[in-house]
Amino acid sequence: MSSYVDCTKFGRDIFFLSGCTSFNTEKNITKVQPNQNAAASENSMMHHLQTFEEIAEQNGGNRAVGTAGGLASAQYILEQAKKAGLHAQMLPFENREKTVGQNIVIEIEGQSKDTAVIVGAHYDSVKMGPGINDNASGVAVLLALLQDYAKQKVKPKHTLYLAFWDSEEVGIAGSQAFVKSLSEKQLQGIQAYINVDMVGTKNPNIMIADGDHSSIAEMAAQFKANGLAQSDYQPILDSMSQLPKHPQDAALEERMRQYFKTNNIQIKDDVTTLTASDTLPFLGKVPVTSLILFNEQMKGDELEFAPCYHKACDTIDGVDVNSLNLALNVIQHLLSDLNK
Ligand SMILES: [Zn+2]
Repeated sequence: MSSYVDCTKFGRDIFFLSGCTSFNTEKNITKVQPNQNAAASENSMMHHLQTFEEIAEQNGGNRAVGTAGGLASAQYILEQAKKAGLHAQMLPFENREKTVGQNIVIEIEGQSKDTAVIVGAHYDSVKMGPGINDNASGVAVLLALLQDYAKQKVKPKHTLYLAFWDSEEVGIAGSQAFVKSLSEKQLQGIQAYINVDMVGTKNPNIMIADGDHSSIAEMAAQFKANGLAQSDYQPILDSMSQLPKHPQDAALEERMRQYFKTNNIQIKDDVTTLTASDTLPFLGKVPVTSLILFNEQMKGDELEFAPCYHKACDTIDGVDVNSLNLALNVIQHLLSDLNK
């Protein structure tokens, strides 16, 4: 997670992420029926996080783009692909600070080469910390998917690309460079881009992308209810309305939502997260959805998405394995649904 529109100026008790209002979600994520290999996946996801934490510790406390910690993180992801017998592509690019980053894309061949699903998570941290929840957690979920798919004997319907983005924390640059490199034909073949960011959060509020943009009206009503002048909040609503849309975004949101409905887990959908992570470059070009787990709090005048967000204390101690497991289950469900 890299950036967001600051809504805190509208009042300390109103959170932009949920339409500038606070909310309570029933904390029931442990309700999910674990899949058969849940214990093995949980262990390996936590092991990945441990390794990323050690990488940061050994490299000045972070895993930021262009640093030794960043490169060691890339190396670790490559090793995991190799172990699973899969080919990984390194795709270098340059960000706005002229730092060279490395996207890593791993292909799991489907029955069709012309249609694809991409699941993406950024692996770079900010310079201020090791980035374990943000976003080694998303990387761990992708690595669990990789291990799963490597074992499967039947090819998925669509070719699956697991994309590990670099430099999300600096200008969402990796995913941007990747989208730019795609041809019109390639974009048309993409059935979905699914983003996974900050999914280790303890006691989370679950946010999925607001594919039908219904939260804009909701947000307007909340601004009004909070007694704000329309001239103050209209620019925010306008910029949200102007976000590029894809005709299939809403259907994808519905597929995602279905999982939570079936498992009786309450969620909070939200449009603003679409611009704050690697979903941004894909908007309007392919169907997009995302999963983010927040536990947002006001820290003085600042909104913190999760405890230790972008800080040195973003370590494995802040991660709940149930959250990781939930994220893995959601994405697995969505993928099997998309491959039907
Ligand atoms: Zn971040």
